[in-house]
Amino acid sequence: MAWDIEKKIYRKIKKYKNIVIARHTGPDPDAIASQIALRDSIKLTFPEKKVIAVGAGVSKFKKYGLLDKSDFEEFSNALLIITDVPTMERVDGIDGLNYAEIIKIDHHPCEKKIANLELVDDTSSSACQLITELILNTNLKINQNIASNLFLGIVSDSDRFLIAYTTIKTFKIVTKLLEKSGIDFVNLYDKLYERPINEIKFHGYLSENLEFTENGLAYIEITPEILKNYGVDTATPSNMINDFNYIKDVLVWTFITYDEKNNIYKINIRSRGPIINEIAAKYNGGGHKFASGARTNKESDIPKLIKDLDDTCKKYQKSISE
Ligand code: AMP
Repeated sequence: MAWDIEKKIYRKIKKYKNIVIARHTGPDPDAIASQIALRDSIKLTFPEKKVIAVGAGVSKFKKYGLLDKSDFEEFSNALLIITDVPTMERVDGIDGLNYAEIIKIDHHPCEKKIANLELVDDTSSSACQLITELILNTNLKINQNIASNLFLGIVSDSDRFLIAYTTIKTFKIVTKLLEKSGIDFVNLYDKLYERPINEIKFHGYLSENLEFTENGLAYIEITPEILKNYGVDTATPSNMINDFNYIKDVLVWTFITYDEKNNIYKINIRSRGPIINEIAAKYNGGGHKFASGARTNKESDIPKLIKDLDDTCKKYQKSISE
């Protein structure tokens, strides 16, 4: 029962003096907003506690609030709370932390239990949806800033309530959040969607240069030169992958971005039919059934991945025509 787990999480938060909140590497707005909102809510409720949100900072996400330094000297015997991340390997910024217990709050599919207490629901639109429920169903406090972050995390991860795991429950929770906080949510969209002109031009480049297969796969390989030409970084394609939904005859689409600095291919994959996280898992990736990512440093993996995705589209087309 989620209700029961939420109460248990609240009791653990109440018990620990030192609390560290972490999320996945390469964060998106839901990951950042969920950890910052939870940190701020715990601090507001229990001002005497030491609570930090850790992980590498991303300058364009500073608008959600600042992260804390991973200086763990005073954080022995801490409670570690991880949000928006299914496995310990993908948790960012906890090297050297001596924690006593772990709580996981996540919406990714994951069979393996890794924490002492888990609030995991892969039907939830976002980690922020789960944090909102946790706050609204316990004595954790909320203010306008916390509510704004939670709202933006939900809107971002559900892609403005477009993605299939948006449910009636999502709308009910958002309604409660808006009623309780009274935030001016329409004006928050600027924070999420305003982009510099060079990103708009890069978006145009992606539209012009996507390749299409006859089975319904759209793909593009993005080189460091292209990123440089448009003045964007390797995180930019990830922020644009959802914009390529609803293209007629495209079932699966993928961006393959070579990160020269880290010698790794960052792969974003989205689907509106075939299940893709199993394919992502073959290339050191994972994620949701219809929204996955992968990382590989082998150039030879790229044509294999494209073929796997294309074959999946072909099989899917066949299965729905039978
Ligand atoms: P992205 O395309 O980066 O937005 O990621 C889509 C989904 O896949 C998110 O839920 C990510 O957490 C997940 N994901 C991305 N990369 C990986 C990876 N290397 N391993 C496991 N899951 C991933």
